[in-house]
Amino acid sequence: MAAYANIIVDISLEKLDKTFQYSIPKELEEQITEGVCVRIPFGKRTLTGYVLECTDIPEFEVSKIRPIIGIEKGSVAMEAQLIALAGWMKRNYGSTMNQALKTVLPVKQKVKQIERKRLLLEITREEAYRKLALFEQKHYTAKARLLGALIEAGELDYQLVVQKLNISPSTMKSLEKDKIISIESMAEYRNPVSHLSQKEYSLSLNPAQQKVVDQVDADIEQGLSKTYLLKGVTGSGKTEVYMELIARTIARGKQAIVLIPEISLTFQTVMRFYGRFGDRVSIMNSRLSQGERYDQFLRAKNGDIDIMIGPRSALFAPFSNLGIIIIDEEHESSYKSETVPRYHARETAIERAAMNQAAVLLGSATPSVESYYQAQIGNYTLLELKERVKNQPLPECEIIDLRQELKEGNRSILSKRLQDLMEEKLAKKQQIMLFLNRRGVSGIMSCRACGHVVKCPHCDVSLSMHNHGKMVCHYCGYEEAVPKACPSCGSKYISGFKAGTQKIEELVKSRFPEARILRMDYDTTRTKDSYENILQAFANQQADILVGTQMIVKGHDFPNVTLVGILAADMSLHVSDYHGAEKTFQLITQAAGRAGRGDLEGQVVIQTYDPEHYAILTAKDQDYEAFYDQEIVYRQMLHYPPVWNLMVILATGKQEEELSYACDWISKEIGKRIEIGKVPVQMIGPADAQIAKISDVYRKVIYLKTKDYKTLVMIKDWTERFIKDKKAFSNVSIQFDFNPISGF
Ligand code: ADP
Ligand code: ZN
Ligand code: ZN
Repeated sequence: MAAYANIIVDISLEKLDKTFQYSIPKELEEQITEGVCVRIPFGKRTLTGYVLECTDIPEFEVSKIRPIIGIEKGSVAMEAQLIALAGWMKRNYGSTMNQALKTVLPVKQKVKQIERKRLLLEITREEAYRKLALFEQKHYTAKARLLGALIEAGELDYQLVVQKLNISPSTMKSLEKDKIISIESMAEYRNPVSHLSQKEYSLSLNPAQQKVVDQVDADIEQGLSKTYLLKGVTGSGKTEVYMELIARTIARGKQAIVLIPEISLTFQTVMRFYGRFGDRVSIMNSRLSQGERYDQFLRAKNGDIDIMIGPRSALFAPFSNLGIIIIDEEHESSYKSETVPRYHARETAIERAAMNQAAVLLGSATPSVESYYQAQIGNYTLLELKERVKNQPLPECEIIDLRQELKEGNRSILSKRLQDLMEEKLAKKQQIMLFLNRRGVSGIMSCRACGHVVKCPHCDVSLSMHNHGKMVCHYCGYEEAVPKACPSCGSKYISGFKAGTQKIEELVKSRFPEARILRMDYDTTRTKDSYENILQAFANQQADILVGTQMIVKGHDFPNVTLVGILAADMSLHVSDYHGAEKTFQLITQAAGRAGRGDLEGQVVIQTYDPEHYAILTAKDQDYEAFYDQEIVYRQMLHYPPVWNLMVILATGKQEEELSYACDWISKEIGKRIEIGKVPVQMIGPADAQIAKISDVYRKVIYLKTKDYKTLVMIKDWTERFIKDKKAFSNVSIQFDFNPISGF
């Protein structure tokens, strides 16, 4: 039990550093934890404040520390809950309280009230359709896009049109001038009830969807707050299930948070929620400025909205009566934070839901092994949607052995079979997607004579070629000119491997000169809106072939795509962490799911050097259970998550020797205590991190594996203390990563 509490009087991020310390009276010891609202003496007055942290370390002379008067009972502010959540994150993932609070509380910024505007159709629908045909004929694509969306929705939010439809204000102005649309400013938010009655939601769930909704709803009625895993193939109607559960949540006077990976937060998705719930929905994305973000939070806090949709950070929307948290595509690695605190949105959502007696619904076509395991051992409730709503059959998949291709003299990355099928589909004017399952290795400079790879002098990574003729380090930004000769052997044969997708684009172009090709990868989507523009162009059938990285396997449906080629399916098997098979299975299944989404049947070609691998064989059959059964055996055998838990200690420092010494010492100290505790814990390392140096800072790792998560938390706490107490390590910093998603 801690003796002192650091208390903040006014909750705002700016005041975080201004905490005041009070002592905790014995009789309150049990009840004082982070987030608790207390009464404190302040000068001559009594104020209320929130406990940010409990500690045994007095900050000033002990005799001068005054005691807390009592606990403020009654309604607990929403902030109190977020503080408590930050405390939980701090303890379970390792960070300072400030780092955790900065994650959960929005940065306050003075913003002038953003004007809310909407677009309305000013002409009849018949007229609108005529105009639409005209615009399309004249290739006024922006105008056509806007008008099409307006016909569908009746009215549209201005911001939404700008952000998600990529329509410029001048396009809107021009349509307004022609009296086709009107732009209306709204002083107040509309009443949601009147909005809903304006547009009755007519879709009724099919029996399988209804069963899922009823089950969750019955639990909620009984006051149970559970975590559900909804496993349903793409197109099985998961999103409709989410929306029905949200509607019921709102009917109970509660609010909903929906997490969707940013990349899947496309116009189509947003419109579905917007179409049903109107202005009671707010969308967060990384394009919002800090001020806009704050404004969204304020709207949530003031009760102006009931639904917050967005990526990971939307989880901290300050709703006071949260009823449900939905996490779509729950297997996505973007739900894990890459910065301290390295929290996982799934676990954090479950914690936040527990504080509110709210439900958590996780949805995916290919659940994470972690979640499926939790469902198997009874921690989550498994719900399933086994059929596609529109009864489209799953596409037919075949595996091509690339080694065999080579033996038969085909050196192309496109197998004979894939080329034949492409020819056939192009002749039928159907569309094709080519997916390169490969990341990060684009554009490295290497010598063909001696194999030398040009590396960054400050980081342990190779430099990447960029179009502007320089080589760039992706970790520190270091740049240098492309050398004329190999720095190691002097040979002139030094060149950059072209970005994987770019090379494929060239190859396809020369093989099918008539075909129109679009490419989507990191390079072609760096500018604002380019991602959505490419998808839109492909959807409008302005191209026959879309070549891309994993970006193309998500988001839009393309009904005219009948062939998906997965060019090197095993690439992701070789990533250097234990998720290789899982990622491969997910990517292949998702990519395959892109074929045959319309009335035409789809075909999938999986090219691989490893045709016997279970991840590839089970993905071919779209058999999740078969994959899971084999994968879990491997995780069990090697004591990997989810069967055991894993913590990585990442230690960094500028002096390599000091760092090595610190790591050895830490691992020895941990070793001693593990012996004493006799809990089965495995320790690996210290060893160099995968990237052993970034910006001249050395990086070392220690891996710890044990069954019980709490043991790892305990080891984390020890380690923090070792570092703090030992003056000699003052230049070493440490970070923790629990059940990491990517390697170190
Ligand atoms: P998922 O989220 O599982 O991919 P969606 O909810 O997007 O599935 O549903 C796929 C398609 O089927 C969507 O176009 C959706 O509007 C439609 N749909 C879903 N449920 C029904 C239903 N009960 N009746 C008719 N159409 C439906
Ligand atoms: Zn560098
Ligand atoms: Zn060389």
